[in-house]
Amino acid sequence: MIGIYGGTFNPVHFGHLRTALEVKELFGLQQLRLIPCRLPAHRQAPDVAAEMRLEMLHLACADMPGFYVDRRELDREGPSYMVDTLASLRAEYPGNCLMLIIGLDAFAGLSAWHQWQRLFDYAHVLVMTRPNCAAPELPAFLRQRLSTERDLLRQQTAGLLFFQGVSALDISATAIRDLIAAGRNPKFLLPDAVISYIRHHQLYLSSEQDSECKQN
Ligand code: ATP
Repeated sequence: MIGIYGGTFNPVHFGHLRTALEVKELFGLQQLRLIPCRLPAHRQAPDVAAEMRLEMLHLACADMPGFYVDRRELDREGPSYMVDTLASLRAEYPGNCLMLIIGLDAFAGLSAWHQWQRLFDYAHVLVMTRPNCAAPELPAFLRQRLSTERDLLRQQTAGLLFFQGVSALDISATAIRDLIAAGRNPKFLLPDAVISYIRHHQLYLSSEQDSECKQN
């Protein structure tokens, strides 16, 4: 079973990493693939270059067996649609069980994702519970796919929806960026190696920095 954890990772933090590890262990995932988007389809483009967000992920995952940083969205033109990412992973791993891992906040906006129903053609969707986000009412399409037994996910390679409780860590990249912009110390919210990278490249010092300044 392969887990797919997408995001802007601007920057990657312990909210991402801890929950990714918990899901990996709970489901015995062979691989946990962290996939930064180049150009998010449903929100404003991040002000830090995709290659830098990718480098921060590499630093964060350096000692984590089974964690892979996957650059496929950076190498694709246009908006980073998850359905295209899953299609390319499915082509690479035709017989594997694929599991898209998303937080409850992201899941609440799922129906706005490009061709969202097709996500289930390629993968299961695992929704991690997150603080301060109520579970939304499920439309029929999702209700029919809801599974409450973890073992069922192993019996097919895609198509099911599962809710998984994970440690509630109220950490967000937005709060970290705001903290740094306010001159405060983000230690214990994200890996030290990522903090050093942020300091070295002087990222997030102001919430209105121009993206051009930070391109590699
Ligand atoms: P931002 O504050 O910039 O919106 P973020 O911290 O929510 O960023 P993203 O990179 O946008 O991080 O999120 C990627 C994925 O990680 C999403 O599915 C999101 O729900 C999930 N996620 C982010 N933070 C947490 C957390 N603290 N606990 C569980 N899931 C999280």
